[in-house]
Amino acid sequence: VFIALEGGEGAGKTTQARLLSIWLRDQGFDVVMTREPGSTKMGMRLRALLLDKESSGLSSRAETLLYAADRAQHVAEVIQPALRRGAIVVTDRYIDSSLAYQGSGRELKVGEIAEVNRWATNGLVPDLTIILDVPSDIGLTRFASPADRIESEPREFHERVRRGFRALADAEPHRYLVIDGTQSQPDITRKIHDRVRAILPD
Ligand code: C5P
Ligand code: MG
Repeated sequence: VFIALEGGEGAGKTTQARLLSIWLRDQGFDVVMTREPGSTKMGMRLRALLLDKESSGLSSRAETLLYAADRAQHVAEVIQPALRRGAIVVTDRYIDSSLAYQGSGRELKVGEIAEVNRWATNGLVPDLTIILDVPSDIGLTRFASPADRIESEPREFHERVRRGFRALADAEPHRYLVIDGTQSQPDITRKIHDRVRAILPD
């Protein structure tokens, strides 16, 4: 079982990924909790490169390919081996982040980025993608100050990203759970449990 958590900055993905992983482990499942970018040795180097403010000259297409490269390594080294041995994989960000950030955010063609990522991941698609939807001005104020190159993008960029995520879920509702991320943490967690319960092996 492969589950992805997605959403903009400060949406609460990391918190919910952690709580979901603990809940699953408590039920006896073998769980691998992971994240993008930067969950492999190569990925950590790519993450540093991608988020460094010194990388401000990076073209949108080059940025897209570097995220895809991180993801290709992530799938090959972490996700695919875990799924093969029967583990449940919970990832904090996956392909939809590229469709929303590099597609909607950078205004590149979403279909083309989907194609690049389909190749990079050898076609691996999550069983369930949970989108934590938070207005970008709320999400961004959950940080003291913008920490990295992407968080420092203007508000309009983050609004396009948010709309991008929602459009992905609208196009394929059976594979998505969209949650209002401004609700309380326990309310969000309960909604995630209700949906995940339905796709767990017995
Ligand atoms: O989730 P986390 O904050 O660790 O992600 C690192 C940064 O990478 C975020 O600021 C996010 O906006 C950015 N990102 C991106 N495109 C992706 C994935 C992440 O711009 N495809
Ligand atoms: Mg961030």
